[in-house]
Amino acid sequence: MLQLGRFPRVRLGHLPTPLEPMTRLSIRLGGPNLWIKRDDCTGLATGGNKTRKLEYLVADALKQGADTLITVGALQSNHARQTAAAAAKLGLKCILVLEERVSQPTDAYRHNGNVLLDRLLGASLKYVPRDSSMTAAAELSAEEVRKSGGRPYVIPGGGSNAIGALGYVGCALEILQQAAERDIRVDRVVHATGSSGTQAGLVAGFAASQSGVRVLGITVGRPRANQEANVGKLVDATADLLGLKGAIARDSIEANDSYFGEAYGIPTPGMKEAVSLLAETEAVLLDPVYSGKAMSGLIDLVRKQMFAKDENIVFIHTGGQAGLFAYEPAFAA
Ligand SMILES: *Cc1c(COP(=O)(O)O)cnc(C)c1O
Repeated sequence: MLQLGRFPRVRLGHLPTPLEPMTRLSIRLGGPNLWIKRDDCTGLATGGNKTRKLEYLVADALKQGADTLITVGALQSNHARQTAAAAAKLGLKCILVLEERVSQPTDAYRHNGNVLLDRLLGASLKYVPRDSSMTAAAELSAEEVRKSGGRPYVIPGGGSNAIGALGYVGCALEILQQAAERDIRVDRVVHATGSSGTQAGLVAGFAASQSGVRVLGITVGRPRANQEANVGKLVDATADLLGLKGAIARDSIEANDSYFGEAYGIPTPGMKEAVSLLAETEAVLLDPVYSGKAMSGLIDLVRKQMFAKDENIVFIHTGGQAGLFAYEPAFAA
């Protein structure tokens, strides 16, 4: 049995998040039974998937006596915003190193959405040019904090290390519990995969509980082989941390790179269709960078009849709605 309770954890999220049927969307697409796991509702300053990871990461930071959280991300990083929120809630300082990853950003992209929230949450923002070494930039900030007598704790991009991935091991267990309560069999989970912690945690959690649930990550900027390798490494590290015996099968790591379009953070027609369709049929707000592209993938795969009609597919809504406001020009009619 998995005993997540032995790892230090700070409660930050509203958990468990709801598992809801997407009845109108399922009928509209005429495919399998589509469900949605509402990790956009984790509650931490507009929520999202980083909240679960931060519960374990911040606990580790507190254990080490840290007084400042430092993390990195793209300008509109949802992870950075949730880290700023966690820091505010616990009375820690927060430094966000933000990369100008998207070329030709609009004013909305530079100032609205997550950036607005980062400022409100009291984080210090440092901007670095595209393709900078984010690890080096975070280390530089940590050194500055140390020099002024502070105690920094550096969280990797997306909160994706084995400690952070524990949050999604927990989510896998939560989904299995909710499926049991509703008396349904979950066949597959689909979600956006970026820095890999979400997928690695889910794969480890579903494998360790021998549930037979398959996980499909839709990539948001990386080619498939590259993504699967990253997820694989993190699955191994997470399994080690959990003390799982026996390797987790490599074929349980599956990514699809057909839906991110030109590059990370660049809108696609499929994303725009998915964002509108989910709003109109389910009153669910997706985001332009992650969940919107992942849902465009799920919609396309349903249309291509990749799934049997009686399958239960759970889409994990990983959050990011704050990003919608940064992409307003992309949705202007
Ligand atoms: C970070 C993020 C993801 C990707 O999760 P990873 O654990 O980084 O792979 C998906 N959706 C949203 C909204 C995110 O912010």
